[in-house]
Amino acid sequence: MSRYHQLTTEQPASVVDLNLAPNTSCVLVKKQTIEVRPTPLPILQPDGILVKVMASGICGSDLHNYLAGGVGGRPVTEPLVMGHESSGEVIAVGEFVTTHKVGDRVAIEPGLPCRRCANCKAGRMNICLDVKYCGAPGSVGSLMRYFALPADMAPHLPESLSWEEAGSLQPLAIGVAIGIRADLRAHQTLAIMGCGPIGLITAAVAHANSAKLIIGFDINPKRCEFARKYISPITGRPIFDRVFQVDSLPTTRKSANGANGHDAHDENVGDVKYDAAKERAKEYLAIMNVEADGVDRVVEASGAEDAGLLGIAIAKQGATSVVTFTMLTPSPDLAVGLGHHQTNIFPTLAVTNKEIDVKGITRYTSTCFPNAIDLVRRGQVDLKQLITLVLPLTESKRAFDAVASGEEIKVIIKNQEC
Ligand SMILES: [Zn+2]
Ligand SMILES: [Zn+2]
Repeated sequence: MSRYHQLTTEQPASVVDLNLAPNTSCVLVKKQTIEVRPTPLPILQPDGILVKVMASGICGSDLHNYLAGGVGGRPVTEPLVMGHESSGEVIAVGEFVTTHKVGDRVAIEPGLPCRRCANCKAGRMNICLDVKYCGAPGSVGSLMRYFALPADMAPHLPESLSWEEAGSLQPLAIGVAIGIRADLRAHQTLAIMGCGPIGLITAAVAHANSAKLIIGFDINPKRCEFARKYISPITGRPIFDRVFQVDSLPTTRKSANGANGHDAHDENVGDVKYDAAKERAKEYLAIMNVEADGVDRVVEASGAEDAGLLGIAIAKQGATSVVTFTMLTPSPDLAVGLGHHQTNIFPTLAVTNKEIDVKGITRYTSTCFPNAIDLVRRGQVDLKQLITLVLPLTESKRAFDAVASGEEIKVIIKNQEC
């Protein structure tokens, strides 16, 4: 069994005495094969807490893990408990813990940094060189009934938050991280490429930060429709000012002549696509009455090459563009949020001329979970609307299939319902 956080291998009496039910878990046995079965109860550590997990969200990286049998280039070599978006109730605390008590409601921060590598020492724990990430190959996940973690990785939750909402907090922490990375500020204009959970949550964070204009793009009409109905708890009106349904960019020109004075023979498909992206961007900007030559910020949350091109085309000179979650797509028509490892086309000249800052992002940084909890507690972000399906732990396979279908936005598993 892979480990997450382990200093001692002896279970303290406080846990043994609880006489807990078997630790039913969602186990990835191999590529596309899930078994719901008991796994060993995690050992409560002296600096840790034992959590009765109540709800867990399923996200694109879990799905990728399931479909491809590994994530981030690391294959699954032994049965792995999946999941990393969980919350629950504290049922035991380690002997050194003073911050938590039995009965506390907590979120589980899934990324355990090593605290020793150069990146951790530089304060960038999200890109720790030796991170233990729940549900990633090598680190046990939280799609189980009982999960143990260091107490400082379990921020407290307000009573007002339902368990289902608590199971969607981790993506909101990522939305907060995107806001920081993109340097989102009040009165900015923003384009979001991709209206899956991360795109929607990024919009909600931008809205809570008093964005001036939020435009969404997606290729999937159902996702566009959903995004149009995502209502702000602050204003009671839609969060997106407008959501455009977009098509793939053309790969050949209508006319035989190349644009920009090029001979058509000198052109590659990137020139053709980027010119089309520029034309479309101009139309969208005109419809939205954007005064500058483009938007202040772009967040690419789809993983699709064409969306990246449109994102650069619609960005104004000096804009910041943040690219999130780009991973191999197991099937080309899969839900947004997963892309290919590489793109073939990058609009180098446009990025140079416009002086666009293109930034990648990995997960979230240490302040993001508490910030996410504040956003929900203060009623500035509503996660409830995003939850479209809730299933018991025993139906984990159905949950993964539902995420794979692209029909659902946020799928939540109730870990105690087995
Ligand atoms: Zn996730
Ligand atoms: Zn580290």
